[in-house]
Amino acid sequence: MSRKNNPYEMALKQFDAAVSHMDLDEGTVKYIRSIRRELTVTFPVEMDDGGIEMFTGYRVQHNNVLGPTKGGIRFHPNVTLDETRALAMWMTWKSALLRLPFGGAKGGVAVDPRKLSINELRRLSRRYASEITIIMNPESDIPAPDVGTNPQVMAWIMDTYSWLRGGTAPAVVTGKPVPLGGSQGRLEATGMGVMFSAREAMKYNGIDPKEATVAVQGFGNVGSMSARFMHELGSRVVAVSDVYGGIYNSNGIDIPGLIEHARRTGSVTDFPGSEPITNEDLLAMKCDVLIPAALEGQITEENAPKIQAKIIAEGANGPTTPGADKILHSRGVFVVPDILCNAGGVTVSYFEWVQGWQHFFWRRDEVARKLEETMVESFNAVLDQHEKTGLDMRTAAYTLAIGRVAEAFEMRGIFP
Ligand code: NAD
Repeated sequence: MSRKNNPYEMALKQFDAAVSHMDLDEGTVKYIRSIRRELTVTFPVEMDDGGIEMFTGYRVQHNNVLGPTKGGIRFHPNVTLDETRALAMWMTWKSALLRLPFGGAKGGVAVDPRKLSINELRRLSRRYASEITIIMNPESDIPAPDVGTNPQVMAWIMDTYSWLRGGTAPAVVTGKPVPLGGSQGRLEATGMGVMFSAREAMKYNGIDPKEATVAVQGFGNVGSMSARFMHELGSRVVAVSDVYGGIYNSNGIDIPGLIEHARRTGSVTDFPGSEPITNEDLLAMKCDVLIPAALEGQITEENAPKIQAKIIAEGANGPTTPGADKILHSRGVFVVPDILCNAGGVTVSYFEWVQGWQHFFWRRDEVARKLEETMVESFNAVLDQHEKTGLDMRTAAYTLAIGRVAEAFEMRGIFP
């Protein structure tokens, strides 16, 4: 793939940078750098006008030494095999960093779900689910929501798998609606985890959250929930954007009102009492915390010198390129890396998976408490590693995660 800032090349560069600071066996490195399994599917969907459209989708499992592979499913026109590989690899490190018993996977379909009717979306989701059922399984590979998918899509995946295999298998997918065995708190988990990470980063950097200003790029699941929890923490969210444009209010945006406005109109733009800004303005804005929560490759060598935020809390996966990372590090910007910052989603997905196996469900306050404990412990572990080694936060997080995967691989050994 020739896309600028190819995510898979980014993921490999980040891996190689971390490994250069570790003393690992060469064979182990070769093994954990490789992608274990890649499935490409091309399948038909009957459209509402009676015509047939062909779609291409993927499911990639990067590594499973720590447990079943886990990772979301993305519906977006730019989905490619390389993007899916990168996202799968990031899931391996994220699960290992959070000490979850999972490996990493990711899936996706190249489609713009906004252009499908609800019935077309249902047929596409079910057909894609049936195509990947040969490698999806509650014991070996468990999807979840990502960009362009939601609890309804997860419900269709669970139902399709269940009909094909017999019985009802709630643990085959996480991020389901609560009445179907979804976990309390899963919908908001990633954003809540971003807030915990940003809060701990502010504490470390001597910033009072109640005095802090925040800018959020992207206003889907992760962006809107991050904004909501930052607002509830007492910080002033001054700028927000989505694919249609951005808005600014120096006094702080009314986030609950904006969530309602975005639900009604489909975008954050034209929110009463705000001024329009571009995405570029938002990224370069003077603020304490910048939360990129849209797509990968947003903070680049071109715009990193202009960033004025003191802290970047990565809600999105891979929002910062390795070139930008170097610039941010040299300019003293404190980056909470994606594999730590947005791990609230996979953490509560783990809780949902456990509840799915046990058919025993937890209260929302229990979920939030366990999530906070897990996020704060992991944040402190990365901070410790950062202080001990002098490595930037991303490389520190990677060395911890890769070390755990390497250790597990060496203990398991090679089959046969
Ligand atoms: P989503 O589909 O709910 O929302 C994506 C948002 O990004 C939308 O508001 C869209 O308008 C906006 N957007 C797209 N392109 C943009 C651009 N160029 N500029 C500004 N905004 C743009 O997706 P999501 O689930 O919120 O995922 C967002 C990011 O978080 C992705 O990187 C995803 O991999 C990551 N992530 C998601 C979860 C989860 O639980 N959903 C967990 C961890 C990480």
